[in-house]
Amino acid sequence: MKKFTFDIAAKDGKARTGQINTPRGEIRTPAFMPVGTAATVKAMMPENVRATGADILLGNTYHLMLRPTAERIDALGGLHKFMNWDRPILTDSGGFQVMSLTGLRKLNEEGVKFKSHIDGSVHHLTPERSMEIQRLLGSDIVMCFDECTPFPAEESVSLKSMQMSMRWAERSREAFGDRPGHALFGIQQGSVFKDQRQESADKLRAIDFDGYAVGGLAVGEGQEAMFDVLDYAPGMLPDDKPRYLMGVGKPDDLVGGVKRGIDMFDCVLPSRSGRTGQVFTRRGAVNIKNARHQDDPRPLDENCTCPTCQNYSRAYLHHVFRAQEIISSMLLTWHNLHYYQELMAGMRAAIADHNFAAFEKDFHDQRAMGDIDRL
Ligand SMILES: [Zn+2]
Repeated sequence: MKKFTFDIAAKDGKARTGQINTPRGEIRTPAFMPVGTAATVKAMMPENVRATGADILLGNTYHLMLRPTAERIDALGGLHKFMNWDRPILTDSGGFQVMSLTGLRKLNEEGVKFKSHIDGSVHHLTPERSMEIQRLLGSDIVMCFDECTPFPAEESVSLKSMQMSMRWAERSREAFGDRPGHALFGIQQGSVFKDQRQESADKLRAIDFDGYAVGGLAVGEGQEAMFDVLDYAPGMLPDDKPRYLMGVGKPDDLVGGVKRGIDMFDCVLPSRSGRTGQVFTRRGAVNIKNARHQDDPRPLDENCTCPTCQNYSRAYLHHVFRAQEIISSMLLTWHNLHYYQELMAGMRAAIADHNFAAFEKDFHDQRAMGDIDRL
């Protein structure tokens, strides 16, 4: 069986491009993973997600364990077959969503006890149970069960939380076992404290993972504070393994993350925005609901090669959004995912050409020019 490996083809500054090889196919890096929360990227057929250039999807342990349950998905042949996506899938550990729940939630060294938001039933999530669920789903890249330290956190609170997550990382590694072709990623914590980030990285390296996530960011600290941490945190992790920034982000977060050595991202933003009428373009974000689009025969971006821009006017997109037609979510999500994947492809090409600084300048210059009316 083909192994899980990571090859870096080129570096430009701290930015890297290459590919992750898995038995289910290659993942070109830097990579953006669309989020398929409930075994679907909302409003998109899987083949259309693939057509935008996505090599890998993210699935959510928390949502799938509650409905339809990991055991049911396993009995039906695993998540890939269930949702008709035969390429790699990364699953989160369930930790982040469970910790964000309001209402009953008991956290101790063993794990987290919580009530389902669907029917109120009580569940217990531990590192061992999270590994079991992700195995039942058939996930290609499994994430360690950890506590995403809330922001802001007192230094002592963050330290305690990070150290427990490192003990959970050890338990996750133990429970994951030896599964050729599947990868387990560790998650660095430590909030905005450099010494804690270092301690976390050292502990993870000692356990040894197939890849490493920078966790605990994009939780309300703002872009500047996030970039401050990203100026040093990725460099504490092994250079020859993939680095994943969880839950990020906006287009300029992705460019700033890649510049600082990140290889993988995931975010609901392009798909969620597609359903709320926000579209991403090289000139920045645009709200299609705005009345100025209602008589405009132009596509969102005449340089965009997505089916939405090839076939539909801003006037039509404005109309179907206002009329709350289902096609509105489909067309806007398609364009947004296409925009994100083109952005990643542009960064990969720029790094390969040792031209990333020029790419970054052009990216910011385009956005500074203002909205799409002047395209
Ligand atoms: Zn488009």
